[in-house]
Amino acid sequence: MAEIRLENVSKSFGSVTVIKDISLTVASGELMVFLGPSGSGKSTLLRMIAGLETIDSGSLTIGGVSCERLAPGQRGVAMVFQNYALYPHMTVRDNMAFGLRNIGMNEADIAARVDQAAQMLEMTDLLERRPAQLSGGQRQRVAIGRAIVKEPKAFLFDEPLSNLDAALRVRTRVELAELHQRIRSTMIYVTHDQTEAMTLADRIVVLNKCRIEQIGTPMDVYLKPATRFVAGFVGSPG
Ligand code: ADP
Ligand code: MG
Repeated sequence: MAEIRLENVSKSFGSVTVIKDISLTVASGELMVFLGPSGSGKSTLLRMIAGLETIDSGSLTIGGVSCERLAPGQRGVAMVFQNYALYPHMTVRDNMAFGLRNIGMNEADIAARVDQAAQMLEMTDLLERRPAQLSGGQRQRVAIGRAIVKEPKAFLFDEPLSNLDAALRVRTRVELAELHQRIRSTMIYVTHDQTEAMTLADRIVVLNKCRIEQIGTPMDVYLKPATRFVAGFVGSPG
C-alpha cells in the first residue's frame, strides 16, 4: 500500500497540451476515481503514474519514492486494461504466473500466489482453461488476478468494465468494491461513467479539458459541485 502524489504535472503531445498543471494525492488504501468525458486526459494521467508515458514537468512519488528514474516495472504498481491483454495460447494459471516468472520467482511461490489470488476471485475452477474458453467477465477477473499476484503497492484500472454488458458490469463493479474492502490497497480507477464513480469511489477527481474541476467525496461532488461543468456532468440536483 502506498500514497501516490502528483505535483504540478503537465504533459503535451507535440504542440497539444493534454494535462495542465495537475496536483493531487491518493491516500494509502484509498480508492480514487478519475472521472471525466472522453479526451479529458484520464488515461494519459494514469499512464504517467504507471510509467507508460513520460512526464514533461512536475513530480510524481509513489510511497514517498520519486518515480523520475523508475521504469514501469520498478514502480510497484499494477495496471489493469480494458481490453484484458491476456495471452491466448496460455492457460489462466500461466497468464497469472507470467509476470512472476519474468522476475525469476521460484515455481512454488508462484503457485502459492496464483492459488491464493484465484481463491480471492473465486476462479479456482478456471485455472487450467485458456482465454478463448472464458466469458468476458471471467477474462476481466483473470486480468485483475494477474495484477493481484504481483502484490502491488497500488492498482491502476483504466475503464476495466467498459467491454462488459450492463448486468455483468454491475456485478463486476460490486466485486471490485468488495475486493477493495478486503485488501484495502491503493487503487485508481478511471471511468467516464458517473454511476461507477459514485458507487466505487472514496473520492472522485473530476477532469475536464486537461484540468481538475473538483476533488471530493461522491457526496461532495454530487451535492456541492464546484463548477457548472461538474454539476452538469454528474447530474447534480438543482
Ligand atoms: P481520456 O482517457 O480521458 O479519454 P486521453 O488521456 O486518452 O483521454 O487523451 C487525452 C488527449 O490526449 C486526447 O485529446 C487524445 O487525443 C490525446 N492523446 C492521447 N494519447 C496521445 C498520443 N499518444 N499522441 C497524441 N495525442 C494523444
Ligand atoms: Mg481513456
